[in-house]
Amino acid sequence: MKIKFSRVMASVPINRISVPIDRISVVIPAYNEEKRLEKTLVKVIRFCKRKFKNYEIIVVNDCSKDKTASIAFGYKKEGVRLISNKANKGKGYSVKNGIMHAKYPLVLFSDSDLATPIDELTKFLDYIKQGFDVVIASRRMKQSNVKTKQPFFRQLLGKTFPLLVNIIALPDFKDTQCGFKLFKTSLAKKIVKLQTFERFSFDVELLFIAKKMGAKIKEAPVTWIDQEGSKVHPIKDSYRMLRDLVMLRINNINGKYYV
Ligand code: UDP
Ligand code: MG
Repeated sequence: MKIKFSRVMASVPINRISVPIDRISVVIPAYNEEKRLEKTLVKVIRFCKRKFKNYEIIVVNDCSKDKTASIAFGYKKEGVRLISNKANKGKGYSVKNGIMHAKYPLVLFSDSDLATPIDELTKFLDYIKQGFDVVIASRRMKQSNVKTKQPFFRQLLGKTFPLLVNIIALPDFKDTQCGFKLFKTSLAKKIVKLQTFERFSFDVELLFIAKKMGAKIKEAPVTWIDQEGSKVHPIKDSYRMLRDLVMLRINNINGKYYV
């Protein structure tokens, strides 16, 4: 199945502005992350202080039932902003909410478990300097360094989902699902306005829209260390992700991603 991007691309002015790389908003979606969040915040704060003139870390509390919010609030003086969803809406919704609040020219979203270590951001900034608009972490490239493998079911999903993504939605990415993606903020805000998926399939939709907008996207190999405590439900989320791939095609035909 060949996907046509040209009709839309022609109508979109590609606003490839160069942005300063010394200020960043880091969005961290967080659902019941009391066990993993604090360690992550400490590392991200330390990294951002060293690397950037200004930074903010936006923790989007996805209606957690544990101490996630108070942990994030405890780091307010260190540049952590807390935003709260009224109900548990999903990772996709939370990332979108965080991006809409971002105030600096670059926005990274990262999972609370920091399975992709924050130091990988240094490489990503170089790609932005080289003129890329979006840089996404990949665990499925030759140079990727996956240190601890996921449990069996996730490995299975990790092998089959990318194939389906390639066939149905995006032929040219090896790994759309890694929770560590850097965007130019102005572009990210335009993209998430068109985003309709709220749970784990949203990455595919973001990349699909970004591509339609003519963004220059770099898939970059990263080190990745599996962390315990995944919120992905084997059956429910696998079903939703497959359903959403089909929905993406339908949305596209219906002009939902018309930019
Ligand atoms: N997450 C969220 N809302 C949810 C489920 C997950 O904001 O309903 C967040 C979660 O707190 C984490 C990120 O999404 O920061 C990725 O989740 P997880 O680590 O469970 O995914 P995995 O690493 O297993 O793909
Ligand atoms: Mg994880």
